[in-house]
Amino acid sequence: MITGGCHCGAIRYQADGQALMHALCHCKDCRRHAGAPMVGWSMYRQDGVKVTTGAPKVYASSEHGRRHFCPECGTGLFYSNDAVLPGIIDIQSATMDDPDLIRPQAHMQVAERIGWMAHAHELPTFERYPPQE
Ligand SMILES: [Zn+2]
Ligand SMILES: [Zn+2]
Repeated sequence: MITGGCHCGAIRYQADGQALMHALCHCKDCRRHAGAPMVGWSMYRQDGVKVTTGAPKVYASSEHGRRHFCPECGTGLFYSNDAVLPGIIDIQSATMDDPDLIRPQAHMQVAERIGWMAHAHELPTFERYPPQE
């Protein structure tokens, strides 16, 4: 079982069973909603995922797409789409208490990827912040 929640703690969830897929999504909808260059999604059977504290707000981001987020702090938590993925819920994997538990298997929607993201892994890295001049 994995557990997770939003930034402020108003929403907590747990997920039982195996993740069916874990992919990093580069589509424009995910980027805009998260305010981030990509979003990790871990796919679970809906009946294995339970919100244990609070109630996410649901936003219709497309005709059938539903994005569930914390109404207090805005953290994006789940995606569901009853037309395309019935019985399935995607969990925004960076909200898991231990995001290292489930490794991503793929990048998806790279047709919409921000150009420089293709080379993001080549950037210099710093344990904390870059040195200030
Ligand atoms: Zn919150
Ligand atoms: Zn996406």
